[in-house]
Amino acid sequence: MNIHEYQAKALLAKYGVAVPRGGVAYTVKEAEEAARELGGPVWVVKSQIHAGGRGAGRFKGNEGGKGGVRVVKSVDEVRENADEMLGGILVTKQTGPGGKEVKRLFIEEGCDIARELYLGMLVDRATSRITIMASTEGGMDIEEVAAKTPDKIVTVTIDPATGFMPHHGRNVAFALQLEGKQVGAAVKLLGGLYAAFTDLDASLVEVNPLVVTGAGEVIALDAKMNFDDNALIRHSDIAELRDEDEEDPAELEAAKHELNYIKLDGNIGCMVNGAGLAMATMDIIKLHGGEPANFLDVGGGATKERVTKAFKIILSDPHVEGILVNIFGGIMRCDVIAEGVVAAAREVSLQVPLVVRLEGTNVDLGKKILSESGLPILSADDLGDAAEKVVQAVKEAS
Ligand code: ADP
Ligand code: MG
Repeated sequence: MNIHEYQAKALLAKYGVAVPRGGVAYTVKEAEEAARELGGPVWVVKSQIHAGGRGAGRFKGNEGGKGGVRVVKSVDEVRENADEMLGGILVTKQTGPGGKEVKRLFIEEGCDIARELYLGMLVDRATSRITIMASTEGGMDIEEVAAKTPDKIVTVTIDPATGFMPHHGRNVAFALQLEGKQVGAAVKLLGGLYAAFTDLDASLVEVNPLVVTGAGEVIALDAKMNFDDNALIRHSDIAELRDEDEEDPAELEAAKHELNYIKLDGNIGCMVNGAGLAMATMDIIKLHGGEPANFLDVGGGATKERVTKAFKIILSDPHVEGILVNIFGGIMRCDVIAEGVVAAAREVSLQVPLVVRLEGTNVDLGKKILSESGLPILSADDLGDAAEKVVQAVKEAS
């Protein structure tokens, strides 16, 4: 799960990470109030959307205008810019061409920037450890730095047995060419990031830019945090920060029904039990020249209701031109699944080709239920056969 910059900054501040003062605003009036409270003389009006690259982004219909992060010098300017930005569609490198509507702003005190640096903290899958990434090339796209000048990125891996130690922080600080009291400030900031990361079950914390101010302070000027969805159960306060406006409606609906659904770009909807089997199903669809429209793991206890819900979610994607159901009846019996599939197909009055591959307990009974249903369900014998049939059926239908 992602949260907004202002929320991430509030969380990190609790862990002693230095951030600029600021206030969130949903309306122009709130923006003006926040600006008065900060007092100036320089303010920054920042669009709050779940995407980076806001500064370099542009609003739809005003591509020649200013970006999603604006430095201003009066409360009047805060008001004017807030008015212009709220309700606008901001398009950045990360939003895709559709952009995202700006519904919240963060009004922040202006910061006197001497240097812009990059700091990231993530779980490195290769070492299974939390790793700090740091670079002197802050403020810009880190993917670009990684591609063009990878030597400018320094990584420090943290052993979970010791946790974050001051020497980790000093290594990062020296790599960032910090000096004097900046080193101690950076060590404290990194310790705060690490504590927040582990306490809150984050999967990513990114500070881009981390800045050194004219006065030599070290401050997190931007903040992004991602959280492990599976750990949200132990962080109700973080779960409350979810902004449903920022999320895919089908994915939200799926989450409410405990279905693991992720929308993809293809046209073949998939319904599978088990994440591993779902991955294999997507692979084999691609092997046969098709493109999966989604990842969907209906879980172990696929009841009729869940199967129906899953069908509805798959079909809510207008790009779906065929569906492949691939269920292994282990704990679940194939006849129960078949009944669920038939009932669901009737209920949603299915219009696209449906291929079903069942295997496992009571498979013969399951197949009989499918064939006797009178519905145009294509039954498949194995995974390869199923993928071939659904790719073929979609081709013929279009
Ligand atoms: P994004 O990464 O989405 O573009 P940032 O928060 O990183 O958004 O802001 C973009 C740039 O705007 C920063 O690199 C920095 O130069 C400037 N900026 C952001 N916040 C402030 C601030 N409080 N004071 C001064 N400049 C800022
Ligand atoms: Mg940034």
